[in-house]
Amino acid sequence: MTLLRHFGEPTRRLFFKRTALPIIVVTLLVATLTTGLLLWSATQSDGVAVSRQKSLVALIISKLESGIAHDQESVTVWDDAVSALRSQDAKWVDTNLGTWMHTYFGHDEVYILDPKDAPVYAFADGSAVDPASYQSIRPTTAPLVEKLRAGLKQGDTDGVTEQVLTIGASDMVVISGHPAIVSIKPVVSDSGHIAQVPGQEFLHVAVRYLDGSLLASLRQDYLLDDAHFSWSNMLSPEEASYPLVGRSGSTVGFFVWQPYRPGAFVLFQLVPTLVVVFGLVLGGIIVALAALRRRTLRLIETENHIYHLAHYDLLTGLHSRGHFNSRLADALTLLPATGEQLAILYLDLDRFKQVNDSFGHPAGDELLREFADRLRRLTVEVDTVARLGGDEFIIIQRAVAGENEVKTLCEHLIESARRPFEVAGVQVFVGVSVGVALAPRDGVDQVELVRKADLALYHAKAGGRSGYALFEPEMDQTLAKRKGLEQDLRKALQTPGHIRVHYQPLYTADTNRMTGVEALARWSDAERGWVAPDLFVPLAEETGLIEVLGELVLRQACLDAVLWPIETLAVNVSGLQLNNPSFAMKVTSILLETQMDPRRLELEVTESTLSQRPTECQQNMAALRSVGVRFALDDFGTGFSSLGRLQSLEVDRIKIDRSFVQGFGGSNGDEAIVQAIIDLARATGLSTTAEGVETESQCNYLRKLGCDQLQGFLLSRPVPKEDLQELLDGGSRRATA
Ligand code: C2E
Ligand code: MG
Ligand code: MG
Repeated sequence: MTLLRHFGEPTRRLFFKRTALPIIVVTLLVATLTTGLLLWSATQSDGVAVSRQKSLVALIISKLESGIAHDQESVTVWDDAVSALRSQDAKWVDTNLGTWMHTYFGHDEVYILDPKDAPVYAFADGSAVDPASYQSIRPTTAPLVEKLRAGLKQGDTDGVTEQVLTIGASDMVVISGHPAIVSIKPVVSDSGHIAQVPGQEFLHVAVRYLDGSLLASLRQDYLLDDAHFSWSNMLSPEEASYPLVGRSGSTVGFFVWQPYRPGAFVLFQLVPTLVVVFGLVLGGIIVALAALRRRTLRLIETENHIYHLAHYDLLTGLHSRGHFNSRLADALTLLPATGEQLAILYLDLDRFKQVNDSFGHPAGDELLREFADRLRRLTVEVDTVARLGGDEFIIIQRAVAGENEVKTLCEHLIESARRPFEVAGVQVFVGVSVGVALAPRDGVDQVELVRKADLALYHAKAGGRSGYALFEPEMDQTLAKRKGLEQDLRKALQTPGHIRVHYQPLYTADTNRMTGVEALARWSDAERGWVAPDLFVPLAEETGLIEVLGELVLRQACLDAVLWPIETLAVNVSGLQLNNPSFAMKVTSILLETQMDPRRLELEVTESTLSQRPTECQQNMAALRSVGVRFALDDFGTGFSSLGRLQSLEVDRIKIDRSFVQGFGGSNGDEAIVQAIIDLARATGLSTTAEGVETESQCNYLRKLGCDQLQGFLLSRPVPKEDLQELLDGGSRRATA
């Protein structure tokens, strides 16, 4: 299981979706809105500007019309003009009424009509021309002429002011395919001294084309870009137009130009700055996002790590106790709805402690990892495999069809744990015991179910290692019994006389002389009778009562044996006692208190004790050895110690386990083993004691093998101190009772 299971591509995608994308979208939205707003304001100001220019053009056109009339009045309201026309002074007329108007005011064509409307003068294309050319524009001007004459005849003064001296007629027309303004004014006397018949005046006709030189001056004077005339109103998007409407209301054409658009101009100026600003903002956001992303991913990584620490066992990668609890709770909640059955398998490795003690913790860890792998292979995805701590594991087996399915898994588990484990370069053999509780059969309460599986495990272990047991209600009673036993033992330890010490003599093999005794705890309970040490010693070890028991036995034994004529008082010591840093001090003070000679005391320890927490153990042993206390290795051959390790163990004696002695004559080659042990002990300078000597033949054989000391029912059973006193009094006689 790696962190990558939680922290990988999906997390990166999630960060993009949940954080980066919204920020980018908001940024783009802001950018779009800002751009939109700018565009909108540019369009608005452009619209205002165009409409103002249209007003300006309207003003120019209307001013142009009145301007032409005004220009005309500079020469038509003039006595000299009337006189020159009457006298037909062609030269004067051309100079003042034609050429002058063209060069000074820019009029394109000039015609003069006599009182009968006959043309008397014509000016076009920059010079005087044949007056007959007027015929070409007559159809267009005739209505204006007629209207003006009628007005003059009636003495109309409509529109006459201080600035406008005479009435006139003008219109927007098309002449020879060109749009033009035509203005007609009567030539009148300015002094009033020349008599004229109203309606019979000479008429001055001025033509100003709108698509000629006028456009150039408009472009120049009013900065109207690309100003031109168009017959139709088909415009390109950049263009604006103003209709030229005649007096009749008909549109002559359109004045078209490219209006100045300040908004678009400003926007255009702003674009590079905006692009740079947006670029910088976007860049900044990307940099900030990248930093945020790194931080977020680191945070997720830490979170995952914490999750992993909380949910997984670091050593094996299996689920942790906490995770197991939550998964079991979930599974139990679903149970009523699915109707399924589940099993809780509580596992405990057998003899794991010995592996740890003999080969060290790294080897133990290696074994646990390998065992976890085997568990994973034996279970399916829906099952939960967790390590509760130490060598305890637990499995939730889901969707169990029946008891048999659970039993099969138990058998597979046991079988797989039996196979050797390769650790620290050697093969070691352990085993596993399994306790099972089934839900809903054994209940659906989480704590109760685990307790029941644990209880079943306890029974499996009690029934011999490498076995399994399914919870049964009677087991609760057994537990209750054990609890009762514990309470009674506690009481017995506090009540003098309930725990006593018996002594089993130790005889020299060659001379058959009692040279020592082994002190053995005995518990006599009013209701239970004699309780076997094999039952209460492990219980005392499990419950921590062993220290009180050990102290009690040692003190009693010293008190009893201090005056006995024996060389050795052997007292059993549990590993737990030896690991207590104050053990040596306690023993020494008991020795002082009872005045027992330390050199007569031999403490019996087991192999596993010697490999545990070596520092405390070694310090205690060294301290005690320094005052003369000896050590014996009890039950030798049942633990993990090899013969090769004997030399490194700081002991003075080896007690060969009774299983070897009792195996004499069998097919296991126990004789050869015992022979090897004795030979090696001798070579290393250690004494040997054979335990459990029950027959004469065993006795004789052990003597032959060279064993130093014998202990067993054949020689004497453990006896109370009074009986031992008798034995001592009777010399080295053997007690058989
Ligand atoms: P152990 O230290 O190996 O003690 C020898 C055990 O072998 C005694 O069992 C003794 O009665 C038994 N025994 C002696 N000769 C024979 C024989 O010929 N045949 C058979 N079958 N058994 C024989 P016991 O008294 O039941 O003690 C059992 C174990 O309990 C002891 O084994 C020792 O490990 C432990 N124990 C007894 N008293 C104490 C104590 O005060 N402190 C501690 N820590 N352990 C104790
Ligand atoms: Mg012993
Ligand atoms: Mg023993």
